[in-house]
Amino acid sequence: MEKELTIYISGLYSGTNPQPGVGIARSLRHAYPNAKLIGVEYSNRCSGIHWPDFDEIWLQRPWTELNLPLHASEIMSRLDDGALWISSIDLEIMWLGEVFPDGHPRLLTPSRESLLQVGKPAIPAHRGLPMRIPEFVTTELSDWELHAFCRKNDWKVWLKGPYYEAVRTASWATFEHFRKVLSSAWATEKLFLQAHVTGYEESVMLSAYDGELLDCVHMRKRDLTELGKTWAGDALPVAKEIVYPLRKIIRDLKWTGGAEIEMVRDVEDKLWLLEWNPRFPAWVHGSTITGRNLPAALVEGATGITAAGSSSRLTEFTRVVIEVPVRSDFPLSPLPEPFANAVGHSMKHPSGLIEFAQRLRDDSSASNGKANGHLNDFTAASEAVPTSYVEDLNSIDFTNLATPSNLFFPLTASEMFRKAASLCHADVAGVSRTQAYSIKTNPDERLLRLALESGFFAEAISPLEVKKAIRCGFRSEQIVLNGPAKWWRREELPETPLHAIFCDSVNELEDVTSGIENGTIKTAILGVRLRTPNIVSRFGIPIDSPELFDTLIQAVRKIPRSVAFGIHFHMASSNVGIRQWNHLFRSMLRWCGSIEALTGRVIECLDIGGGWYPEDMIENKVGDFGNAVTLVAENLSGVKEIISEPGKAIAQPTMALAMSVLEIRRYSGGMTEAIMDGSIAELPMYSFHPHRILSLNTSGEWRPLERGDSMLFGRLCMEHDIVATNVELPENAKQGDVFVFCDAGAYDRSMSYVFGCG
Ligand SMILES: *Cc1c(COP(=O)(O)O)cnc(C)c1O
Repeated sequence: MEKELTIYISGLYSGTNPQPGVGIARSLRHAYPNAKLIGVEYSNRCSGIHWPDFDEIWLQRPWTELNLPLHASEIMSRLDDGALWISSIDLEIMWLGEVFPDGHPRLLTPSRESLLQVGKPAIPAHRGLPMRIPEFVTTELSDWELHAFCRKNDWKVWLKGPYYEAVRTASWATFEHFRKVLSSAWATEKLFLQAHVTGYEESVMLSAYDGELLDCVHMRKRDLTELGKTWAGDALPVAKEIVYPLRKIIRDLKWTGGAEIEMVRDVEDKLWLLEWNPRFPAWVHGSTITGRNLPAALVEGATGITAAGSSSRLTEFTRVVIEVPVRSDFPLSPLPEPFANAVGHSMKHPSGLIEFAQRLRDDSSASNGKANGHLNDFTAASEAVPTSYVEDLNSIDFTNLATPSNLFFPLTASEMFRKAASLCHADVAGVSRTQAYSIKTNPDERLLRLALESGFFAEAISPLEVKKAIRCGFRSEQIVLNGPAKWWRREELPETPLHAIFCDSVNELEDVTSGIENGTIKTAILGVRLRTPNIVSRFGIPIDSPELFDTLIQAVRKIPRSVAFGIHFHMASSNVGIRQWNHLFRSMLRWCGSIEALTGRVIECLDIGGGWYPEDMIENKVGDFGNAVTLVAENLSGVKEIISEPGKAIAQPTMALAMSVLEIRRYSGGMTEAIMDGSIAELPMYSFHPHRILSLNTSGEWRPLERGDSMLFGRLCMEHDIVATNVELPENAKQGDVFVFCDAGAYDRSMSYVFGCG
């Protein structure tokens, strides 16, 4: 009987991110020494076609050239003739699900319906399993909301496509870049962002036939490749907490074929489900080595032909790289010509999966009768802006405006200061809250005056900034002096006392201490900025070694009793994320406790810096004003004042940049580019955070540009002067139209430079 066993196995790519075909063949050869194993591939560059366990290779045209209906009927006739088919290519499995809507007893892949139940990212089938799905959002959300998701999750997020491949996007620029790469590679805009879970990666592999769970194994990765793929692991029995619900799920799904359930075990020993792959994993033979041959179980379940058993008692396996002879009927092909820029991105897979995805997309949009399937029903949420932006814009006269031009939004600005001020309610438990507006973020006098009127102090990083604050009406007692270069142009400092000085080094602290003793420096509070442990920073006094910490303690002991002692730390939550900031805040409170205990000095002032995103501060997500006071009161009972130093949280929404369209280039296929008269010189933060862009529609209303394929180029003759990449140019857009780039009131303004103007 066994001699008649013919098994087709597809997916033979065998690089460092391999497909499982070779492993399946090795496992089946072990269990069925006389079976006829036929490897199926769509590229002769997949080295797995040379693996000696294959009796034959059935090499197809690449996916882009393949006659799919013919291929389907060839597969069908082979199945009808009694052969089995095990696919290890996700997209081929999806396609087979379409070709065989009712399945086929010898097609050992899951049905279309079961595939829907294990689709990423929600994986509906997982209910009942003792694991959770990490938080995710669809990229159909607006850029504004996507940026908020990244901040909330400390920028530890993965951008994932619908089938395969995930990219860490640790910054907004990386996110924007890979959103473009992935959506064009996989021919869909429907991507999602998922929160990273830190922990150890584990998998459950299973084998099932027609809803019956035949066998399963639990693997823990013990060594990884550069891409995080398994290099070594251990294979263990699956705990009953997983097996019981799994058996029911497999029955409900009527699952046929292999599967791999990828998980992460976090520090609290909880399991998170990342993916449910509808096929055996590439490490499948590792399990066979340990005595659990799941491909054999599948073939036995489907045919009733008994597989040769294994008596292995091992639990661990590892990979090695080995050389095999090339088959004489498939000699190596020459390398492709090395043309310029030939370095492909990591998603270049020789088996042509990407081309196949595009092919499937094109075929399905053609059959849906759509002219351009490009955005396949994808609708990104509109980039809504606060109503005050529109009110402010409506009061600006654009008729004689020379662009590019900075626009000040007075209503928005007052509202930002009012909202920020209202966060500091009346003193709680004798602790007062002071807000000091960060001058460097945007030193515009209109903002400084609003800060003063709103009861804010001013936070300066240079004597020149102190001078400016005084010119705008601040008293020296309302100024906090910070940063590594406080004594540059020292002659500009006032004679009268400052509110607070925070030293950036122990040297500086010693100098200021003598300055206070000899009367040349006057301040109510003298403190130090601590360098954040565990988060890289060039600022402040390092405290993460006992020696460094001791140096600080000695210097603090010498601070004159005539001044109050304070501690400052600053770490931008807009960069490190909200969770991480809140964690840092708690850890800082503990460091402060140690400093008090070791110096005998009571900390009377705690300065928690700035670096917040507007929404995060206004919605109280970081440095939660009420909560911070309570926490501080619990940990540091001597603190009388908490200072925060918001800059961009207030300034960013208060200004915009108006640019005009110089030229529109429309290409066949719908692609458009516009040349703008503004540039990255006026918008230097263009790649750091999203800027909502407004344009006037035909009825004269300001509307956000939608997401799309158009590019807005700056006027500079510089390759990287691109001011927007993922927008849709309005249909009626023409030369001379004004686009308003909002959210440009912080560093876009203060760090802009004059360039290309003669
Ligand atoms: C720049 C700066 C701030 C403000 O930072 P934003 O990111 O604009 O909020 C606050 N404190 C200090 C010491 C700074 O240097």
